[in-house]
Amino acid sequence: MPAQILDGKAIAAKVRAQVASDVGHFLAANGRVPGLDVILVGEDPASQVYVRNKEKAAREVGMRGRVHRLAATASEGDVRNCIEQLNGDDAVDGFLVQLPLPAGLPETALLDGVAPSKDVDGLHPFNAGLLALGRAKVVSATPRGVMRLLAETGMDLVGKRAVIIGRSNIVGKPLAQLLLGAHATVTIAHSRTRDLPDVCRQADVLVAAVGRPGLVRGEWIKAGAVVIDVGTTRNDAGKLAGDVAFDEASERASWITPVPGGVGPMTIACLLENTLVAARERVAADKRRR
Ligand code: NAP
Repeated sequence: MPAQILDGKAIAAKVRAQVASDVGHFLAANGRVPGLDVILVGEDPASQVYVRNKEKAAREVGMRGRVHRLAATASEGDVRNCIEQLNGDDAVDGFLVQLPLPAGLPETALLDGVAPSKDVDGLHPFNAGLLALGRAKVVSATPRGVMRLLAETGMDLVGKRAVIIGRSNIVGKPLAQLLLGAHATVTIAHSRTRDLPDVCRQADVLVAAVGRPGLVRGEWIKAGAVVIDVGTTRNDAGKLAGDVAFDEASERASWITPVPGGVGPMTIACLLENTLVAARERVAADKRRR
């Protein structure tokens, strides 16, 4: 029997509806709406689309969404000034720096300048550390979205073998922490992993976060596994492709995410959730100070 489709678009719509309702309650209680800001440096076409989508999604749930556009020639100091301005702006609950930054800008040093309380991408070492300790407040949106998709399958993750292909700070590593927290037995594979197909064949849950279209073949999938495809690569015609050979994998998996329409919509929905979490935390911190 072919796999059931994990419809990220439909599940994300549910998450967004919940966020919109929570934003209404937040406004009633605090007299303002949560605010999400994005810093975009340069003119990378894909980044421009992502940023526009984030701004639009924030507004659709009733949040204040704002984009700060800096030229591709912006200096490290220019970006740092923008980050510091948002750190100190009371109307901003959360913000992110859209990646990748233009070559030559020190990504890690700049991201470390984002106030942890406003770091809705969960990339600051403080937030990554809390996640590793099982005490996270804000978790990078894509891994959060993956966990939500897994929850929709009804699969009990306790004791299950989870394999993540990809060890980035924004997807692979935080997702491994979340799966570990859910008591799965977790393997992180990467470009130096030996016998990748064999490693994948052990997975009850297989997550591909690589950026190589069609890398994961049907014969790599354990019968009945849940397959989550994070990969998004745009071909010359502008079409998005995932890391998993979808038709082959569907013949063996129990559940599978499509690309597009799987993880992508969940990422934006979870970013909105993160902004709400950051806004609530700020209100609670203000109350504690008073
Ligand atoms: P990344 O930082 O480039 O990491 C890619 C990972 O894949 C690295 O750990 C790399 O290993 C590993 N890798 C590369 N080639 C491999 C191979 N042949 N076999 C096994 N592992 C291999 O990418 P990322 O930021 O995590 O993103 C990964 C993909 O997800 C991209 O397509 C990106 O566009 C997509 N993405 C989608 C969303 C969404 O919302 N849908 C969000 C984030 C990312 P090494 O560490 O050894 O180099």
